[in-house]
Amino acid sequence: MKDCIFCKIVAGEIPSAKVYEDGEMLVFRDIAPVANIHLLAVPKEHFATVAELDDRRAALAGGMLRTIGAHAHEWGLEGGYRLVVNQGEAAGQTVPHLHIHILGGEPLPWGK
Ligand code: AMP
Repeated sequence: MKDCIFCKIVAGEIPSAKVYEDGEMLVFRDIAPVANIHLLAVPKEHFATVAELDDRRAALAGGMLRTIGAHAHEWGLEGGYRLVVNQGEAAGQTVPHLHIHILGGEPLPWGK
């Protein structure tokens, strides 16, 4: 989608520190990390929120979770990690392209 920063990263038009890529998704380092390890998993297809999941996209999202689970240890997350998916403005979603924050590399306090 034109003007979407994550679509531009997927297309290689904006550089990213990529740690994983397959036909469906990309995982790269967040530019403003809030944990020692802060990755973003994004689908290559543009859609903004889980409200836009149909059956096919739900399978895609499930596959993304499975891939994160299968590769987390390679990304230094063997001690545990947190997945966060901000949905909408009030939750702090700033990029309207679905993304899963992958946070870890340190003990993470629980909070809002
Ligand atoms: P959210 O606030 O949930 O929409 O998360 C968007 C995330 O994208 C933030 O954590 C930003 O730091 C991150 N971000 C924005 N632009 C880039 C970029 N060019 N490369 C990597 N991460 C980015």
